[in-house]
Amino acid sequence: MTPPLAPVVRTVNLEKIYQNGGVPVPAVRGVDLQIEEGEFVAIMGPSGSGKSTLIHMLGGLDARTNGEIWLDGRRVDTLSESAWAVLRRKKVGFVFQFFNLVANMTVADNVELPALLTGASAKEARARREELLDALNLTDRADAAPGHLSGGEQQRVALARALANQPRLLLADEPTGNLDSRNTRDVLRLLGRVHAKGQTIALVTHDARVAGMADRVISLLDGQIVDDADVAPARRRPRGGTTGDVIELRG
Ligand code: ADP
Repeated sequence: MTPPLAPVVRTVNLEKIYQNGGVPVPAVRGVDLQIEEGEFVAIMGPSGSGKSTLIHMLGGLDARTNGEIWLDGRRVDTLSESAWAVLRRKKVGFVFQFFNLVANMTVADNVELPALLTGASAKEARARREELLDALNLTDRADAAPGHLSGGEQQRVALARALANQPRLLLADEPTGNLDSRNTRDVLRLLGRVHAKGQTIALVTHDARVAGMADRVISLLDGQIVDDADVAPARRRPRGGTTGDVIELRG
């Protein structure tokens, strides 16, 4: 019998305690979490409950204080910052609330950058960029500077960039938090489509519409998981095969 696939994410008794002028501030307190391949998990909870800290730790952007983090069967909480940087480029796509695009690079260059950083040839990076911008209806904005784009367009570019390396895990911290409802709808549609293609997603949101698209909603309170609920088991995809193929996003 083949052994079961390792979950994409596994945390064991994960803790983060910030030091605020010598005063310990517990932000995440003993989180045990498992996210399987192809799952779309929404993390909700009041402000200050530890959502951002948790998602940042999963992406290696914040170091844990105690506990374990495993990605794809590999323990990662013990990695150095530089090892994390390499792993993140290859395995994790991150979308933030405020886009975080490189302002003095074109849209095209922003989307190509992750592939170039992981050693793809210029030709491969360009092909991937063209495919993503086309799929996200951004081809005519390729030569624009991010500052000349609307918020919704910038967030679509950020999503394209996060998907450029076909990450095992897409993490997002309030990806629609700064968008009006029309742009929120666009970003949600894209998330829905990549999820339908098998992309594993974990995101922080306050927005019930975003959470409504997830397979699972995890509620945090004071740094602890207080609820972990399957939303719509009937909609659940069969397990298996993140292809990373987003060519057919439209339609
Ligand atoms: P949420 O995303 O749910 O709003 P956060 O993860 O941002 O929650 O914060 C959780 C707790 O950790 C809060 O009490 C917050 O004040 C504290 N915190 C977050 N970042 C820092 C930091 N860099 N230094 C000190 N305390 C922090």
